[in-house]
Amino acid sequence: MATTNHKRRPPQSRRQGSGYPVQDLRKRALAWAVKLRVNPRVIRVQDMRHKWGSCTSQGTVTLAHDLVYRSDKFQDYVIVHELLHMRYANHGRVFKALMSAYVPTWRRLEADADSPPAKTGS
Ligand SMILES: [Zn+2]
Repeated sequence: MATTNHKRRPPQSRRQGSGYPVQDLRKRALAWAVKLRVNPRVIRVQDMRHKWGSCTSQGTVTLAHDLVYRSDKFQDYVIVHELLHMRYANHGRVFKALMSAYVPTWRRLEADADSPPAKTGS
């Protein structure tokens, strides 16, 4: 198996516009997973028309690609929402309390979620 030795490029990591917004989004989700102590098997970013994110009981978290155009806070809101579903299936009292603990402005962000493409689903 041949390995190509690419020259290392100088790090080009300006905080904004690193050029890989999808990777940034996934990294952000992974960082939240650590913080929330959940262990998603897969974090996918793909086009989703009707919601911002979803999460299966098998541990697959899907985030809408359009999130890369949204604010960091909004990304946090969707990510935390979906990751918390790995621990709580519904939007009960505990779920909301945790949302408030991690993303204090989530209620306002949820209102923003109504602008297309629609709100967080499950
Ligand atoms: Zn939900």
